[in-house]
Amino acid sequence: MRRQAEQVIHGPVSGLPFPHRVVPAGRREDLRREIEAMHGSGRLSDLIFQSYARIFDCPLPEDCAGARSLIVGALAHPQSRVTFTWAGTRATVLIPPSYVRYWELTWDAEDLLNRLLAPAGHWARFARVPQKALAVHSGLARYGRNNIAYVPGLGSFHMLVSYYSSLPCDDDGWVEPQFLERCATCTACLRACPTDAIPGDREVLRQDRCLTFYSGYSGPQELPDWVDPDWIECLVGCRRCQIVCPENRAFREWIEDDWELTQEETELLLGGLTAATLPPALHAKLDRMGLVEFFGLEECLQMLASKLAILTSRM
Ligand code: SF4
Ligand code: SF4
Repeated sequence: MRRQAEQVIHGPVSGLPFPHRVVPAGRREDLRREIEAMHGSGRLSDLIFQSYARIFDCPLPEDCAGARSLIVGALAHPQSRVTFTWAGTRATVLIPPSYVRYWELTWDAEDLLNRLLAPAGHWARFARVPQKALAVHSGLARYGRNNIAYVPGLGSFHMLVSYYSSLPCDDDGWVEPQFLERCATCTACLRACPTDAIPGDREVLRQDRCLTFYSGYSGPQELPDWVDPDWIECLVGCRRCQIVCPENRAFREWIEDDWELTQEETELLLGGLTAATLPPALHAKLDRMGLVEFFGLEECLQMLASKLAILTSRM
């Protein structure tokens, strides 16, 4: 599967081993205007708009002041398996791509990018931007009907990374969002979605109906009251619309990480840990999974407690 990921077309930074695009740094403002317009026309709810506002409210870091471009890339990323034990019974759940070790891989890619850019006197630094919209406008990805970004050769089994860079960029190939051609005749994700988040036409996903929104680093971690516990099958996020998607046929069984929560750890998480009561060994394990850095410690503990409460209630 790794080999397949390596065969995809790469982008303009020579030697960068993952598909990517470079656009002028000013495109960030275009994304802001687009999101404000969507909110203004009622196509984006207040809740979702606030999550974008948190991204745009982050000031440009001082060391990015001279940025001339944005680099957006897609790293091949598998599902992860987590086994936990409850009442003496072991159970396995999956985490969809793009969560586990997200930041570790983002920093690794940044290091690599900087090593490649340094001989020409350029640099790259992580950019907090709406990555999916950037990937689609840059031509790196296309939207599926489920609003997920699909990258040629990777399907949706990837994680997006984005960086400011001093690299000049005049010709960005900015495009209007494109949909997968297959979506014109396919409704598999629409039928698989338990929350009715995917619209029948090509309108915007009802993001505040999407379970993934409640596991995002810019959204809330608590599940709202209207969520039926039977809809929850993942420890983080939701993968139902990705797994049924024919674009992911080659990747569905791609599971690379195996993590284990002992019965004692499961009980502790269910009991409601805080930063002060979290045992160091469990803290280190959650750190290695990258979930603490992704969500923040308190949010991570809160999210795991609520998901494990649902998952163990069915055992
Ligand atoms: S991630 Fe889950 S809730 Fe969200 S659109 Fe896909 S199937 Fe529906
Ligand atoms: S399941 Fe079908 S409709 Fe949904 S994103 Fe995939 S190809 Fe498009």
